[in-house]
Order: sequence, then structure tokens, then C-alpha cells
Amino acid sequence: MLEIVSFTLGPAQTNAYLVADSDTGDAAVIDPAWDGQIILEAAKTRGWRIAHLWYTHAHFDHIGGAGAIADALNPLPLVALHPNDHVLWRAGGGGAMFGFDIDPGPEPTIDFYDGQILKLGSVELEVRFTPGHTTGHCILYVPSSGVCFCGDLIFAGSVGRTDFPGGNWEQLEASIRSQVYTLPENTRLLSGHGPETTVGEEKRTNPFVSENSL
Ligand SMILES: [Zn+2]
Ligand SMILES: [Zn+2]
Repeated sequence: MLEIVSFTLGPAQTNAYLVADSDTGDAAVIDPAWDGQIILEAAKTRGWRIAHLWYTHAHFDHIGGAGAIADALNPLPLVALHPNDHVLWRAGGGGAMFGFDIDPGPEPTIDFYDGQILKLGSVELEVRFTPGHTTGHCILYVPSSGVCFCGDLIFAGSVGRTDFPGGNWEQLEASIRSQVYTLPENTRLLSGHGPETTVGEEKRTNPFVSENSL
């Protein structure tokens, strides 16, 4: 069964998620935002082994804790990211623009693609390609738990910014409609910033992408 530990870390108050199959102890970090040692400690307390770092996208505030996590692990975790965000990853996630020089950790060697199935113990996660906030943004949907890790695609009552390099409003809106609003209404949305919400709640009340403004 999927177990989720959430953290809000770093200068942009980014949500990081430590996830594991609690039956096997196989763990991954979705967006190791900042302060990697805090995430490591939470895994250690539970006896979980972090084997993967999964990035919804490569902005610095979502990967700033990767270096500290990788430094403490042997073998190194496998890092996965959509190839369209590799350039952004190489540029330190755009942190220099805000005065942050992060340790990005190991190079991503696993390429996310739409429809890819990731395995954590016996838990399956589905990669959904959702460009718009960045050109390589992806979300991770867990059908067995009714949970979707949304990164900076959609937030409770808001949506991801499209004014950074690679941002595109039409793509963002299309990604939300085709990849989020098609999920079951009671699916929990765990975003990169702010509180959790559900698909049904956002369809009814999100002021930026409402269900009816087609
Ligand atoms: Zn972002
Ligand atoms: Zn963010």
C-alpha cells in the first residue's frame, strides 16, 4: 500500500513527497524540494530505502534537496525527469535568476514519457505528460490510492505560472483538461505548493480553468 509523507520546504515553500510501499519499504521522493536531510531522516525513521528521485519538473525549488539525499545513499538513487526539462536541469533549475545556486545531485538517467508505469514495491504510478508550466512537466497518478502528484500544473484554486522560460498558457490549460479533469472526481491532488484539493473541487471552483469554460 502506498504511504505518503509530505513536507513543505525551502524558499518557495515547495511540497516534497516521500512515498513508499509500506509493505516492502521501497521508497521514492517526488520533488526533493530542499533540505534533503529532513527527508532522509523521515525515511530512516520508518526503515524505508530511497531508490528513486522523481521530478515533476526541473525548477530549482523542486530539486534543491536532491544533492543532500544522494550524498547519503549508496547505491545512488535513480533520477527520472522528462527529457524536455533536461536543459532546465542543467541550468540549475533557473535558481540563478533568484540568487540560488543548488547542488542538483545525480544526473537524470530515466526519461519520463506519457503513459509510463513506475513501480514502487507492488504500487504502480502512471506518468502523465503535462507541459505548460515547463516544456517537460509531468504528473504522477496512483490509481490504486486515488492520488495524483501534480507538481506546478494545478493548485487548490490556482494554476502554475506560465511566465517563466518554456511556459505556455494554452498548453497548461490543455494539460489540465486532458490529464487532470479526466481523472475520477474524488482523486486527491497533491500539488507542488499549497494545500491538497480534489479533481471535483477544482472542476467546480478553479477560477482559471473551469469545467464549463470550454
Ligand atoms: Zn515550477
Ligand atoms: Zn514550484
